Amino acid sequence: MKIEKIARGVWKFTEWSGLSSNVYLVDIDVPTLIDLGAKEFSRTLARGLKEVGYTTADIKKVIFTHLHFDHIGDPSMFKNAEFFASQREIDDLKNDRIGSFFALFGTNPSALLKGIELKPAKSNSRFTIIDTPGHTGGSICIWVREKRLLFTGDTLFSNNILGRTDLPNSAPNEYEDSLKKLARFKYKVLCPGH
Ligand SMILES: [Zn+2]
Repeated sequence: MKIEKIARGVWKFTEWSGLSSNVYLVDIDVPTLIDLGAKEFSRTLARGLKEVGYTTADIKKVIFTHLHFDHIGDPSMFKNAEFFASQREIDDLKNDRIGSFFALFGTNPSALLKGIELKPAKSNSRFTIIDTPGHTGGSICIWVREKRLLFTGDTLFSNNILGRTDLPNSAPNEYEDSLKKLARFKYKVLCPGH
């Protein structure tokens, strides 16, 4: 696993395998993770956190950019955390618009999140939640103004690399408006999901 410090109190964890999303630790308020990668890499993630001085028990919040299996990891490892996603993403998961597709690959997000309480993600002074439907209907991006960091999940990888919008729970018709919304944020570092 590659660990990169991208700002004071902010680290990026990248698995060498592309099958797991990036994980970001943002400790500007309470220790917060943005996405958890894929479940099969959860032990490497725990080791990575330790390397920068945190245990899984230190994590107080996890914000999911969306609920694809390669982003939701193993939430049960984080005993003291609250979990957040957009309401639309939570509803789509309940209606199994996400799960049914990934179940085909034996990686059903509904099963991975069983017993985990998901709360609707809301903006606060530190984290601005931006609704950016497209890659999934309930995808969100997160803006951390004081560091000028934009966390984009699978919505945007760089200015010319766009996310997929052809998955069962994608919202292709709403994607262009989401990209326009993101263009307003003058970020210093783009923090994508892969
Ligand atoms: Zn995704």
